[in-house]
Amino acid sequence: MLNGKKLLITAGPTWEAIDPVRGITNLSSGKMGYAIAQRAFALGAEVKLVSGSVCLSPPVGIETIQVLSAQDMYEAVHRQLETLDIDVFIGVAAVADYRPANVHTQKIKKSSNKVTLELIRNPDIISSVAQMESGRPYTVAFAAETQNLQANAFKKLVNKKLDMVIANDVSKLSSGFGTDQNQVLMITHEQTIDSGMQDKTKLADTILRHIAKHL
Ligand code: C5P
Repeated sequence: MLNGKKLLITAGPTWEAIDPVRGITNLSSGKMGYAIAQRAFALGAEVKLVSGSVCLSPPVGIETIQVLSAQDMYEAVHRQLETLDIDVFIGVAAVADYRPANVHTQKIKKSSNKVTLELIRNPDIISSVAQMESGRPYTVAFAAETQNLQANAFKKLVNKKLDMVIANDVSKLSSGFGTDQNQVLMITHEQTIDSGMQDKTKLADTILRHIAKHL
């Protein structure tokens, strides 16, 4: 089904360093992105995975590029897009929106009762891909929401100039971050389809088959 197609996928969390031993991260396990990479490979695609720090083994047969921060992920993604003719980009990674303005070179000592951390915006990786002037791949984003799932995800589709958003409600304990199951809305400019609750491997297959129909 994806024979001859080149897919670039991001997965996992990012790590935004505060000092050499501390940082800001999130609860993304990487399971959904890894499942999509593995299924895409099984469906015949050539797959590159750019992964934040996760406790999963790299998927068999797939070149996996390990990164830590959003900035590293941005650079790794654009390096792949420059060198390969990517057909589909799927942003599954939970990328930090902000990073500490200053990274301390030494471990911060407890001295005062209050410390203030100044944060600055990270680049939006998926928007930068969706707005490429040449060689733009079919661009799919995952969107984790805790309220107004469909409306908020649709806004992302429009604002980030995407082709598809895979929206999931991370306020539910049974689905989303860290779980083995998930339920998503697959939203394009024309229609919205509810996947129903599925395990992440089966869901990866459902999502890829839906994407393949649009290529
Ligand atoms: O805006 P929000 O973070 O909810 O959008 C989620 C989508 O945007 C995901 O596909 C995520 O990988 C991507 N994203 C990104 N760069 C950022 C923030 C989010 O590519 N700095």
